[in-house]
Amino acid sequence: MLFLTPGPVQTRPETRAAMAVDIAPWDRDFIVEYAAIRDRVRDIAGGVAGVHATLPLQGAGHFLVEAAVRTFIPPGGRILVPSNGTYAERIIRIAREAGRDPVPLPVPDTRGVRGEEVAAALAADPTISHVGMVYSETGSGIINDPAEIGAVVRAAGRRIILDAVSAFGALPFDIKAQPECDAVLFTSNKCLEGLPGIGFAVCPMERARERAGQAGSWCFDLGDVLLHAERSGWGSFRFTPPVQALHAFGVAMGAYLAEGGQPARLARYRENMRVLREGAERAGLRPYLDTAHQGPIILTLHQPDAPGFTLQGFVDALKRRGVLISNFYTTKTPTIRIGTIGAVTPDDMQVAVAAIAEALAELGVTRKAA
Ligand SMILES: *Cc1c(COP(=O)(O)O)cnc(C)c1O
Repeated sequence: MLFLTPGPVQTRPETRAAMAVDIAPWDRDFIVEYAAIRDRVRDIAGGVAGVHATLPLQGAGHFLVEAAVRTFIPPGGRILVPSNGTYAERIIRIAREAGRDPVPLPVPDTRGVRGEEVAAALAADPTISHVGMVYSETGSGIINDPAEIGAVVRAAGRRIILDAVSAFGALPFDIKAQPECDAVLFTSNKCLEGLPGIGFAVCPMERARERAGQAGSWCFDLGDVLLHAERSGWGSFRFTPPVQALHAFGVAMGAYLAEGGQPARLARYRENMRVLREGAERAGLRPYLDTAHQGPIILTLHQPDAPGFTLQGFVDALKRRGVLISNFYTTKTPTIRIGTIGAVTPDDMQVAVAAIAEALAELGVTRKAA
């Protein structure tokens, strides 16, 4: 099966195979392996040894978003959230339920947030301490630019928490060039092409240390994750980790570096996107975003307005042809979402394009109706 989902993604056979072992998290060999993974992850984020640290948590990406919000924003504190899609809406909900005060900044879900919009919102409200931004808005495929927005946040003397879950590893990010960043967040199972099970925050150590104890949650306190590492070693976990997923993640990171790291991965995903987008347009499907705003992570297409079309029917018809895509959408109007990330190539995208044309034909959707 060809997985074209924006996380979990298709993995390499050797990554999956690495899961099939029993591992004790306190075993000396694993401690060394885990500490090395933390160093590599920090390096990929542009972190500096002794200045920045990788602070992992078991679980999904949302857990890391909640942990960063709780750790860096005091109870009742205000966080501005430029909102152009579902994942931004989720930061707002997470902050509200954690007893912080989210300030939404509505942006159309067809373009990135602009620096001047963030600057105006921050100037209008000096009580806002943080901006919470999604790098690649997986709801539609838009990219918000952390370098542009970060510069605005820095100039305003505020801090940023960056949800880079569907971007990290493919789109560039350099935390040492962005000192306003409290946390960049991502998981094992998107552009780094590992299995699900663990999320990462890369943070300035001094900021995390200062904030330890503020989260109102032991489990979600990134400051405590840091203090534990400093006390018990960088290969030590507070609670049982998904050891197999971590072991497999080490293999996936090896493949990442061997491929050529971030530039190579971005180039492959861009080419995946080009082949898929052009092919979908040839089949008559209309992209949700203009080319200028189309990121390389996920392609969103308008659902055809044809009597034979249902999203689940289309997903099933594709699955019968060996291609798996999401059976839900998160845009305001009905769409189809197809991921271009994971261990998939432009050749795989050609296969997908052929399957899309066949699936539409099976549902009786003519090119015109599509
Ligand atoms: C995938 C994703 C997340 C996290 O999703 P989980 O299901 O919690 O792992 C968060 N933000 C963005 C932008 C994502 O694409």
